[in-house]
Amino acid sequence: MADNKSAVLVCTCGKQLQLDYELIKNAVSKMKLAASVTVHDLVCQEEGLAKISELVDKHGGRVVIAACTNQKIQPRIDEHLESNGKDSTQLQYVNIREHSAWVHENQDEATRKTIDMIRGVLARSAGSTPRQVEKKDVPSHVTVVGGGIAGIEAALSLSNLGYEVTLIELEEELGGHVIHLPVVAPTGKSGKEILTGRLDALQKNKGISVMTKTRVKFVEGEMGSFIVHYTTDENEDEKTIETSAIVMATGFREFKPTMMDEYRYGRNPDVLTQFELSCMLSEGALARPSDGEEVKDIVMVQCVGSRDEEYKRDCSKLCCTFAIDNSLSIIERVPDAKIRVIYMDIRVPFEHEMIYKESRDKGVDYIRGRISRIWEKDGKTHVQFYDSLLNQYFEITPDLVVLSSAILPPEGTRELSETLGYLVEDDGHIKELYGKLRRNETRRRGVIAVGGVTRPQFVFEAVTDAQAGALMLHTELQGGSIEGVARGAVLDVDDCVGCSLCAQQCPRGVPLMIEQTDKEEEDEEQKFIFIASIDTLLCHACGVCQSLCPTGATQLNFLSNDQLWSEIEATLEDAGPDYPITLCFYCEECSVSTIDIVGTRKMNYPASTRLIPVPCAGRVSIIDILKALESGASTVMIAACETDRCHIGGTGNEIAQVQVDVAREILTAIGWNGERVDMFRMFSAEPERFTTAINEMVKRSKELGPTPVHKGTSGKWMEASK
Ligand code: SF4
Ligand code: SF4
Ligand code: SF4
Repeated sequence: MADNKSAVLVCTCGKQLQLDYELIKNAVSKMKLAASVTVHDLVCQEEGLAKISELVDKHGGRVVIAACTNQKIQPRIDEHLESNGKDSTQLQYVNIREHSAWVHENQDEATRKTIDMIRGVLARSAGSTPRQVEKKDVPSHVTVVGGGIAGIEAALSLSNLGYEVTLIELEEELGGHVIHLPVVAPTGKSGKEILTGRLDALQKNKGISVMTKTRVKFVEGEMGSFIVHYTTDENEDEKTIETSAIVMATGFREFKPTMMDEYRYGRNPDVLTQFELSCMLSEGALARPSDGEEVKDIVMVQCVGSRDEEYKRDCSKLCCTFAIDNSLSIIERVPDAKIRVIYMDIRVPFEHEMIYKESRDKGVDYIRGRISRIWEKDGKTHVQFYDSLLNQYFEITPDLVVLSSAILPPEGTRELSETLGYLVEDDGHIKELYGKLRRNETRRRGVIAVGGVTRPQFVFEAVTDAQAGALMLHTELQGGSIEGVARGAVLDVDDCVGCSLCAQQCPRGVPLMIEQTDKEEEDEEQKFIFIASIDTLLCHACGVCQSLCPTGATQLNFLSNDQLWSEIEATLEDAGPDYPITLCFYCEECSVSTIDIVGTRKMNYPASTRLIPVPCAGRVSIIDILKALESGASTVMIAACETDRCHIGGTGNEIAQVQVDVAREILTAIGWNGERVDMFRMFSAEPERFTTAINEMVKRSKELGPTPVHKGTSGKWMEASK
């Protein structure tokens, strides 16, 4: 066991923590996994860092640091050790300040909790192994799907960063919608002018191959070794491209309201969509489609298909600006044109407000109301509308009716999601991993999304989005030579039974199921056709696969099952029937931030609580929960990110919820009471939500009494789960 011992460094935080350090020192020095215990006043300062260095040398990297939040000190300590050529990957942290001393008034209880948590982390540390820096060479090539403004910008940015790029476009020409815009607010330039420089750069760039009239059929592989299968209009035979990453930049599609009878779109040629009018204007061909006559009187109808539960619930964001841009373009060509815009609300962001004002100054008539109906009579288009400010109906006969139609995600986005592995929002846009911090990233590592395919974006937004996406990919691909500490899931192929749960549920699509062709000689009964394969270097280290794997074949290399179980047992070693304990697993994303804020604000909650960090709530399995109860916890809670806000990939907290629900059912079935387990979600700065949750679980501990394990019923859940 000597090899598994760790040095413990306990910080007094400048002698300001109200803990009994003598008692801690005595208790820790008697722990079988503690090699030594040192109390230090400021481990984060130079002298403290030197001490850590010394302990790392002496104990082969196994050091437990009991101090303030590792969010604050870990980067400093890592940097210090790394700059001195030392391994920091085995260091373990216990937050005795924000999670203990600062939140419990009773010094004895806080000290007891501190000792328990150090014992727990010593057990975790005993199972730790040093992690190596690994290197993987991948093609320095990226495929961009979509040749609109975002795709072009992404291709140019990636090329500037040193990548070979293949730009695939479905249509015959590049430029997407933007090339057809007569004017792009707030620049005053036309779409063509905005694109010209970029198209020239694209043409001159030898590192970018452009393939138009090309359709992506499907994709296989993973980041670093994707194979894109495609066909062209000229050749239906499938061809392939080997590429390291894929940028989805397929833009948007304008809603065609043929099914909305009231607008007569598709039946009356003089009823157009706003984008169709843009095309007309940019081609300099403003005329009435039915007879080619001059256009003098135009009515624009806002929110067609948008803000409508039946078609698109949300505002499409761009169409008010498109209507204003087109109105100004018309006035430029036909100064005496009469333009009415019938709207529910006019929504223009940023300096677009200025063009809205300009259009009003130039005579565009904005009428708050709705269209009642459109019909044709005597060769004219008749429009009846209701002016809600005047409370009056009007009838007019415009030359053109222009519908500001909803902005939708492009066709095929959902279909491609099946092969590209990204998730799709309810409205059909590609779902970004986490809107606040992980923009552009999708569920599938190596597949990013930029521009309108994620949500309606103005031209300048699509451009910056594409640049950000390119930089993000560059961070991942590192120019084609990925190097880093492989911190994540490691697979023991011998234990894998090929159930594919990991591949189905990994929030980043990392595990691949590989056909086992070399197992033919084996007994048919024993043969598993597919076995998982996990590239640890690509893994995001959430532990979801581990919590689901039925055989323990896939486990995090920094938090194996044995490590977590021994930490649970050691933390709860002193739990007794007269001191019911609430064990809280908290994710190291939103929950840790919130719990740390609880600490810095010195908000009190009961000390009969023990906290164990996990990278993502999805790392916690039913077994872990039951293990905690079996080890003496009275109640168990999981603190996780808010719904739909799982930082790792959007699903870790949902998987944790399933584990909690099943654990509750098992507990109810064996008479242990399902209320002993619960999950609580929180954003990163919601201290009250955490204290309310943990108080609730402590209350349940008291109500439900000592854990049944103390009455000798341990092991019952195993029988029930058979
Ligand atoms: S941008 Fe304007 S027209 Fe478009 S949905 Fe929003 S409010 Fe309606
Ligand atoms: S979940 Fe486990 S057993 Fe199932 S395929 Fe993945 S590694 Fe293999
Ligand atoms: S740890 Fe998470 S990201 Fe890594 S393979 Fe498992 S489920 Fe995927």
